[in-house]
Amino acid sequence: MVEPYKRLLILGCGTCVSVCMAGGEKEVEILASQLRMLNEKEGRKQEIAEATVQRQCDREYIEPCLDKITGADAVLSMACGVGVQYVAEVAGEQSIVQPALNTEFYGANLGAGVWAERCAGCGNCVLHITGGICPIARCAKRLFNGPCGGSQRGKCEINPDVDCAWQLVYDRLKARGQLAVLEEIVPPKSWKPSLSGGPRKVIREDLLL
Ligand code: SF4
Ligand code: SF4
Repeated sequence: MVEPYKRLLILGCGTCVSVCMAGGEKEVEILASQLRMLNEKEGRKQEIAEATVQRQCDREYIEPCLDKITGADAVLSMACGVGVQYVAEVAGEQSIVQPALNTEFYGANLGAGVWAERCAGCGNCVLHITGGICPIARCAKRLFNGPCGGSQRGKCEINPDVDCAWQLVYDRLKARGQLAVLEEIVPPKSWKPSLSGGPRKVIREDLLL
């Protein structure tokens, strides 16, 4: 991906990927050292610069770094897919920005080295009727009215290590004394506010300048 470029900038992001220990300042340093060693071993001449901005999804943090970004033949962004795209957008059409990471999901840190998906950004939250367990991000079939026939001993049929989301919903509502909530049939969901309705945008009139 980055081999053809003589001057490469490895660009870290100081927010989410930094706390995930995937693309912050330290990981930029490590990746740069690894690439330098590989280049040395393979006799390749490549200048590798390093930088980390506070957030690659915010223009105000990208702009102060524009000289470095446009001065490189290519940028290897260690941000999520949003940052990769937005740096290129701010830097201009000719800028080449490549992704260093595979962005899988947005989740919570369950403990040292463990992250799990919790929300799929559907745009129309139903957590108030599912005991706070997301049936979209956590149920493999995205069911809204109870478990499928594959739920076994509290685990999902896709993997015995994965909790059945609907078992979690049931247990949570039972603990709260709110099982009656499950008697209400949830009508088919409109997926229009989700990604199925096309790329989304939020405009807050009160914040516009
Ligand atoms: S219902 Fe939608 S908004 Fe709410 S947690 Fe699940 S995916 Fe996220
Ligand atoms: S076993 Fe549970 S989590 Fe898995 S698909 Fe069926 S209802 Fe969803």
